Amino acid sequence: MLATADALATLLAAASPISGTESIPTLQALNRVLCADVTSPLDVPPMNTSAMDGYAIRTTDLTHGAHSTLPVSQRIPAGHAPTPLTPGSAARIFTGATVPAGADAIVMQEQTASTGDEVTIQHTPQPGEWITAQGADIRSGSVILPAGTRLTPQALGLAASVGCAALEVHRRVKVAVFFTGDELTMPGEPLKPGAIYNSNRFTLRALLDKLGCEVTDYGIVADRLDATRATLREAAQAHDLILTCGGVSVGEEDHVKPAVEAEGRLSMWQIAMKPGKPLAFGAVRRGGTASASAETFFIGLPGNPVSSFATFVLFVRPFLLRLAGVQTVAPRALSLRADFTQSKADRRNEFLRARINAQGGLDLFPNQSSAVLTSTVWGDGLIDNPPNHAISAGETVRFIPFSELLN
Ligand code: AMP
Ligand code: MG
Repeated sequence: MLATADALATLLAAASPISGTESIPTLQALNRVLCADVTSPLDVPPMNTSAMDGYAIRTTDLTHGAHSTLPVSQRIPAGHAPTPLTPGSAARIFTGATVPAGADAIVMQEQTASTGDEVTIQHTPQPGEWITAQGADIRSGSVILPAGTRLTPQALGLAASVGCAALEVHRRVKVAVFFTGDELTMPGEPLKPGAIYNSNRFTLRALLDKLGCEVTDYGIVADRLDATRATLREAAQAHDLILTCGGVSVGEEDHVKPAVEAEGRLSMWQIAMKPGKPLAFGAVRRGGTASASAETFFIGLPGNPVSSFATFVLFVRPFLLRLAGVQTVAPRALSLRADFTQSKADRRNEFLRARINAQGGLDLFPNQSSAVLTSTVWGDGLIDNPPNHAISAGETVRFIPFSELLN
């Protein structure tokens, strides 16, 4: 069995960004991945601006310190171009307005007394006070967002602040997905004896949607070799990745492994992790050609609901992000105190469903079975417990929050 770190390294080594880019409106670019650096064509702010409603003055004009009275020589609302400050005067100014040439400080209106034509300054400002200097945020010519950035709401705002109306991004990753298991029934249908609902379809589709993939869902494919092969062949045509769920173990009813071997190639893995031991990785030929460039990646997830969820967030997510062109794909973990004891060590790397309690420590979900999906809803994340390691209460453990795995 492969160690989890080695399995992840193998997957990421194979995942280079897909080719194909597009220019899209910045307003529609949330979660898309930049394929080129965004460079600012201007300073932000583009001029010196006032950070307060108040008066723009020249500090050397305050000859009576905090008792200086100055005539008000102009009024500068935001969005209007001022004239240079008349020496010995103050300019009424508002937040975001351009500081007039000659002024070197803003006195906030709460520290003034105004009679309309004149203003008494009741505070001695430092030069530069309440002025946001031109370029304080962004310098013209600087890279504000590097290629490989996955666009957050803040990043869209930053791009817009330098006037970008459109952004160059990688195209979306195309994923085909199907589910194996003759026991599977769709919600909405009556449950026959021996059947269960296809819960993984809902979990995995939502996980793929969150990553911004373009998904083709082939639904439930019968537990037969010919049906599995036919679906693989069709799915290979126009996708970057084929993702399957179930049927990758070693039973006679598990047809995914021989089907991929017949239609492409497979590096079948047993990963030393719990939950989720079987994870298959390989490729399916496109259109019967043999060249490696004419292949579609294949990942087969185990069928147990917690296993498929855990293997997706730990392996498929970083793989898909790399295909999408993202540089940084590792989730950031926290070091938190275990408020429980788990005396039995497992020889596999366990990913335990846990949640943060009011004391800032971690509680463990009592049933860690890979079939108990409730644990994934109850939990806030996964404890990454190394092989052969028992956990004592009070010990610091590595915790990967779901917020890092589901974004
Ligand atoms: P398999 O990986 O096909 O051997 O399935 C392992 C276990 O997961 C079995 O108990 C299956 O019934 C269950 N299972 C497989 N696929 C799904 C699915 N799509 N939704 C819920 N449970 C599933
Ligand atoms: Mg099955």
